[in-house]
Amino acid sequence: VIEISNLHKAYGSLEVIKGVTITARRGDVVSLIGSSGSGKSTILRCANLLEDSQQGDILFKGEPVRWTGSGLNRRPADPAQVLRIRTNLAMVFQQFNLWAHLTILQNVMEAPVTVLRRPRAEVEKSARAYLEKVGIGDKCDAYPAQLSGGQQQRAAIARALAMEPEALLFDEPTSALDPELEQEVIRVIKDLAAEGRTMMIVTHDMKMARDVSDHVVFLHQGLIEEQGDPETLFGAPRSERLRQFLSSTM
Ligand code: ATP
Ligand code: MG
Repeated sequence: VIEISNLHKAYGSLEVIKGVTITARRGDVVSLIGSSGSGKSTILRCANLLEDSQQGDILFKGEPVRWTGSGLNRRPADPAQVLRIRTNLAMVFQQFNLWAHLTILQNVMEAPVTVLRRPRAEVEKSARAYLEKVGIGDKCDAYPAQLSGGQQQRAAIARALAMEPEALLFDEPTSALDPELEQEVIRVIKDLAAEGRTMMIVTHDMKMARDVSDHVVFLHQGLIEEQGDPETLFGAPRSERLRQFLSSTM
């Protein structure tokens, strides 16, 4: 579903992604781990075209992003393609970014109605079902401020699901939460993984990465230092840097 190949990204003269290739096939859960500043969030943001990149290909369902310009001036050429990719790779952030002035139900309905222009009654029905699925079906009429952090994050996941995306991209979905609340969100992510959803997950939670991933990528300073299936990567890390990283986080 998502193929990133030889991605390069710089902020001005600071090169932060230096040639990264990552593929998530349909049904794959790919986790990105690595220390702060290693480029995890940047890769997700480049993948759904929130950030421009200078080099490399990004393919969505086999369709390559078309670019115009080159180097620091490279941009996606086709706004319709950008919209299609962005709506199909729904992003869930660390901060839930719910609209404070809308109820939980309205938050979930907003994009399917305004972006996808789907009929309101149909969207409401599916929005309620997604809120039920993440375990907060009783919070439809509450406002975000009335929910716990874990409930807000689950609402944000329901909002992403309501777009019926091809894949979900999570950027540290549990890191703003207390440990107990973290578990509620991990439960939802595990359910989604078991359903065979395609996901790319940036996480500092090695236990979750080990439990849910088909493939784990360890980044170091904008490059893949080591990658593999979770058993091997966590059980028998080869690189010294990965060993150090794991001993500092587990
Ligand atoms: P963390 O675990 O702290 O979230 P990360 O692996 O997600 O880290 P990124 O946010 O991708 O790291 O950042 C990679 C590098 O890019 C860092 O050196 C960061 O300082 C730099 N960077 C990120 N965003 C910008 C920006 N908007 N402008 C300039 N530099 C940036
Ligand atoms: Mg980050």
